[in-house]
Amino acid sequence: MSYVPSSGPIPCAWLLLGQNPGHEEQIEGRPFVGKAGADLWAGIKRFLGMERHQFYVTNVLKYGTPRNREPKPAEIAEALPGLLDELAAVKPKYVITAGAFATRAILGNDVKLHNVHGIPHRAEVAGQSFICLPMYHPAAGLHDKGMLGCIAYDLDGIKRLQDTPVHCWAPTPLPAQSLLLQAPPGGSWKATKGFVVAVDTEGWPDKPICLNLSLDGFNGWVIPAENKALLQLFARWLPQQTAVLHNALFDIPVLKAMGIELGEFHDTQVLAYHDIMRTGSGSLEAESQNLGTLAYREVSLLLGELMDCAGVDLEAREIPLTDEVVQYAGMDAIATWRLFQVYKQRGLLDYQPYRIDMGQVGLVRSMIDCGVPFDVDATLDYQINVRTKLQAVTEKLQEKAARLGIEDFNPGSHPQVRELLTKKLGLRIWKRTKGGLASTGQKALADHQHDPVVKDIRLHRELTKLTGTYLNPLLQELLNQ
Ligand code: URA
Repeated sequence: MSYVPSSGPIPCAWLLLGQNPGHEEQIEGRPFVGKAGADLWAGIKRFLGMERHQFYVTNVLKYGTPRNREPKPAEIAEALPGLLDELAAVKPKYVITAGAFATRAILGNDVKLHNVHGIPHRAEVAGQSFICLPMYHPAAGLHDKGMLGCIAYDLDGIKRLQDTPVHCWAPTPLPAQSLLLQAPPGGSWKATKGFVVAVDTEGWPDKPICLNLSLDGFNGWVIPAENKALLQLFARWLPQQTAVLHNALFDIPVLKAMGIELGEFHDTQVLAYHDIMRTGSGSLEAESQNLGTLAYREVSLLLGELMDCAGVDLEAREIPLTDEVVQYAGMDAIATWRLFQVYKQRGLLDYQPYRIDMGQVGLVRSMIDCGVPFDVDATLDYQINVRTKLQAVTEKLQEKAARLGIEDFNPGSHPQVRELLTKKLGLRIWKRTKGGLASTGQKALADHQHDPVVKDIRLHRELTKLTGTYLNPLLQELLNQ
């Protein structure tokens, strides 16, 4: 593997940091001269009106990797001191980090690119303070045309930075104000109609755990599913309020199981989807609309993950309502409430496609409620189609696992997925669970989204979710009539 030196003036206000030189770079001996580089420089010219000679261009690794595989942690650790020396010499004001590895080299290993891309971050590295501008790697656009909008958005973010004073992202520690409710809270809320109430649930339709509410974006109320009397009180009150959920299709069956029907409701996940389509601010993949990512990007909140709370075992379907779980559950409602205000301010509630989308949900529901014949056969066909796909992807994964020595592979089992990805395929997973194991959650897998096995595992999860939270309950409801 050949050494590719950095190029550009020293000192320099703008520094571009990539991952490692590719094939063309090694032949020519200069960073970012191949296809990805050509796209990047074209984008920089178009969006920023700048040219290559105005940048100091470098990579985390100065050598190529075998078959251009991802850098290993030991390789990065070895390369970092050299990079720090470069930063100290070049003294950049702005550092554009292209891709996850470059971004983590500057912002830290916990950072997820889908959270931070396009948002200026203040950074302090090697005694230098500068503004870090994380972007998706231009090579991502070569593999997946859907990423091009995202890359353009990131470059446009840098342009906005040139035009306006910098507002750097800073996380807000959320005051821990979630409360486990066992009796009605005081105050006049009960008599009031028209509150915006963020509504969330934990648990499953056949095993609901709790209902989480926030009325103000500061306080969270967590009501255990066993407290039937209190749930009844909220079941009477909630239909008179404007409810806001994140991924309502997931929560509605759980709410139903707790005896709760909603009146008017909005879905921040659907709003996010339309916002992303409108602005091109992210990829349309599931993680760009997950609550944690949106909370980080839009309202500067850092949310935890339920599966990381002590005592929680999602496979065994155990969610004890410990203080930690109550804080987590309340926070999700709080973040949803705040997110809704952002989309409301952006005028998305009046955005026509969003209205049509939500209208369709209501329409299907009222068709069923009014006994209008619903095309059960078509819905069954759809379900069969999804099931066939699910079976095919399950078998494919099982075959792959068997070839690597894992018998009876269950793609829904986190320990087995962990064994397959880390031990058998050697994938490096940065995110850890509280117990110190490699995380196999959605966010952790998103880092390896181009790996074919990870792609299949994510597809398996999406299809399982679609079947479990939408198709099966809908058909159940239709067939019961
Ligand atoms: N990709 C990088 O990250 N760096 C290069 O120099 C070329 C492609």
